[in-house]
Amino acid sequence: MTPSSLSQWIASLPQAELHLHLEGSIEPATLCALTMRHGLAMTEEEMRRRYAYRDFAEFIEVFKWVTSFLREPQDYACVVRDLAEHLLAQNVVYAEVTLSVGVMLLRNQQPEANFEALLRAAEPFERRGLRLQWVFDAVRQFGPQAAMAVVKAAGSCHSKAVVAFGIGGDELSVPTAEFRAVYERAGEIGLHRLIHAGEMGGPDKIREAIDLLGVQRIGHGIAAINDPSLMDMLAERKIPLEICPGSNLRTGALAHQLARKDARIEDHPLPAFFRHGIPVVLSTDDPAMFHTTLQDEYAHAAQMGLQEDELSRISEMSFEYAFLPDDEKRTA
Ligand SMILES: [Zn+2]
Repeated sequence: MTPSSLSQWIASLPQAELHLHLEGSIEPATLCALTMRHGLAMTEEEMRRRYAYRDFAEFIEVFKWVTSFLREPQDYACVVRDLAEHLLAQNVVYAEVTLSVGVMLLRNQQPEANFEALLRAAEPFERRGLRLQWVFDAVRQFGPQAAMAVVKAAGSCHSKAVVAFGIGGDELSVPTAEFRAVYERAGEIGLHRLIHAGEMGGPDKIREAIDLLGVQRIGHGIAAINDPSLMDMLAERKIPLEICPGSNLRTGALAHQLARKDARIEDHPLPAFFRHGIPVVLSTDDPAMFHTTLQDEYAHAAQMGLQEDELSRISEMSFEYAFLPDDEKRTA
């Protein structure tokens, strides 16, 4: 298949995205409008230049800076509209969007009010065929108490559209075991359990998340390539990895895990995971901040040597492993 017929074929498939951060989806033009609303005039070009990072730490700094302009419910509504248009343009019909509720709480905001505004902003897009569900995310380095407050906020939003609880941030900060009670509570109130693990951390972080916290999907998990017995376990237990190749390249996570500074997208372990029988879903992570789209990520996967039937299977898995009841998966 030529690159252009491949991209046409990919664009024709209805897609689901399962690892996508709202705060990482703010296009430069929308960010300009947000900063202007809060008294900072910047050009789109300046914003674009900000969306560049030499390593993971720099990316986190920019992510924090961007979220500092999400101050009121209407700011959240504005970025959801932006994201929803972008997803529809990519033929995405279903997405689980991660919301950094840990950051909202840190800034003394009311997650319930922000969430209400998000839901209202998303409604017109639902009518256009885009279904959105939400993952409430805590920040690992803020500790278990702050994470428990995120679970509590998920409960007090009283919405079926909040389907999961997750943790992101610095994997090497707080030990996994300290979040046990938090994940137990999340399970008790009916939330699915997610985590970012094995992105910058080692395979041990993935194992601990499965054994101690009972997580059902792993965000990134690319460190598994360094642990064959973990790969066997992921395949046997059918625990999916949410793979975001463009993100891994731009944050330096790929180079870090492969211990090769010059790691290229072609070196990504996605084909090895897939051919080992590990469920994988393909996603963009922070599309605006990593200058990527879901179609770009499928093109990346093709560059890694995955064939059309394999890409088609990967696309199906995004629906299969979505947090939707079985009878709603096909119609999502
Ligand atoms: Zn992520």
